[in-house]
Amino acid sequence: MKQTAAEEKALTPRATDFSAWYNELIMKAELADYSPVRGCMVIRPNGYAIWEQMQRALDGMFKETGHQNAYFPLFIPQSFLSREAEHVEGFAPETAVVTHGGGKELEEPLVVRPTSETIIYAMYAKWIQSYRDLPLLINQWANVVRWEMRTRLFLRTTEFLWQEGHTAHATEEEAEEEARRMLGVYRTFMEEWMAMPVVTGRKTDSERFAGALRTYSCEALMQDNKALQAGTSHNLGQNFARAFEVTFQTASGEIDHVWNTSWGVSTRLVGALIMTHGDDKGLVCPPRLAQFQVVIVPIYKNESEQAQVLEAADHARRALHAAGVRVHVDARDGMKPGAKYYEWEGRGVPLRLEVGPRDVAAGSVMLARRTGGTKESLAVGGLPERILAEMDRMQRELLETSRDRREANSIRGVNKSQFLEFMARDGGLAYGGFCGGAECEAEIKDQTKATIRVLPDEEFRSNPAPTTCMWCGRPSTSEAVWAKAY
Ligand SMILES: [Zn+2]
Repeated sequence: MKQTAAEEKALTPRATDFSAWYNELIMKAELADYSPVRGCMVIRPNGYAIWEQMQRALDGMFKETGHQNAYFPLFIPQSFLSREAEHVEGFAPETAVVTHGGGKELEEPLVVRPTSETIIYAMYAKWIQSYRDLPLLINQWANVVRWEMRTRLFLRTTEFLWQEGHTAHATEEEAEEEARRMLGVYRTFMEEWMAMPVVTGRKTDSERFAGALRTYSCEALMQDNKALQAGTSHNLGQNFARAFEVTFQTASGEIDHVWNTSWGVSTRLVGALIMTHGDDKGLVCPPRLAQFQVVIVPIYKNESEQAQVLEAADHARRALHAAGVRVHVDARDGMKPGAKYYEWEGRGVPLRLEVGPRDVAAGSVMLARRTGGTKESLAVGGLPERILAEMDRMQRELLETSRDRREANSIRGVNKSQFLEFMARDGGLAYGGFCGGAECEAEIKDQTKATIRVLPDEEFRSNPAPTTCMWCGRPSTSEAVWAKAY
């Protein structure tokens, strides 16, 4: 069959130019587009549908862990940002500031939120009086603005969508437990929904959130061997509570400051999904996050075949829909089946069913998987069960494949020369001893562009543990995971 013009324009292969591949994939799959405002992004319906699936899953998990949604304003009085010293230092360079409103200069400029700690904790100061008001567990879905100079679709844009959880607790232990719990929720979501394995752990002081006591992170390895910080959770200590006078009466009648946490993931996760699973044909979307999990393509040559085939396709659609499968029949007339296959493959639809006159006669449909392998004829009876099982298997296999890839690109117990060679060659995750010195961290970044992604949680640590800093040779205080990162 003759290819259409669109089919002939293949993506630049990942191995040739990963960054070009990424941008072309987003355009081809119509996930996002550049906006007339530099650095901003338009999320197109195909991309937004993935974000909606992500939101739905995460929102359910937040509610299951006792959180409620609320909404706080986009504008924050500029003075609020200055109240926490580290916070203002961290965010001031990238804020957008509104100085005029309604044609008049404002008495106090307003910052367009880069994150909402300051305005939320100003409100918490009003709402929290007693230990009975704690814990306060709130999440908001919102947009934020950080003035970025170098932007990439989904990964780094001036305005992006995210959720930010903000909680207040009576004790440090409870805040720590919450920060760790939400890191665990993110990890579960990333592994079980995105099929994206992550390494979790704590950030060093130089990579910690501005104003936090401790920052925890989920780090994933993309196919170009660069790490991506996929989600963070912060124990804010009492820093913001002191700055905003968020106090409460304890059970024994004393007055104390609350302990806060905040945690967030953003539309960056769509970029992470693309770079974890995409191939040279386009997007590969894990079934649990796909807008359409199954697309049915009818095949016919004449009108009588068309009627018969469409009826069979609709029958299959209804059966799958009733079983909870997100399914779509591509009944567009005047478009060849091959062109449809190509388009749905580029958009990452996990499973495709082809229905032709011969399939109708045999009471079957032809199954093709986005991840390859031979096509398979399935009986129409029992179709939903087969499809559900197929989606489960694909979901699992995508996670296993990405985990195998990550492990194949990880190196443990590195010494300095191995590390330099590793980072100069293909890169990946390098595990090694770290003395805890900021000088070592800075020197490594300077010479190799690699940064400490996390001081890994116990289950990711090497056995035996490294005893010396892989860079300076002094005693190691903790193992570290280095990588070049987005
Ligand atoms: Zn060192």
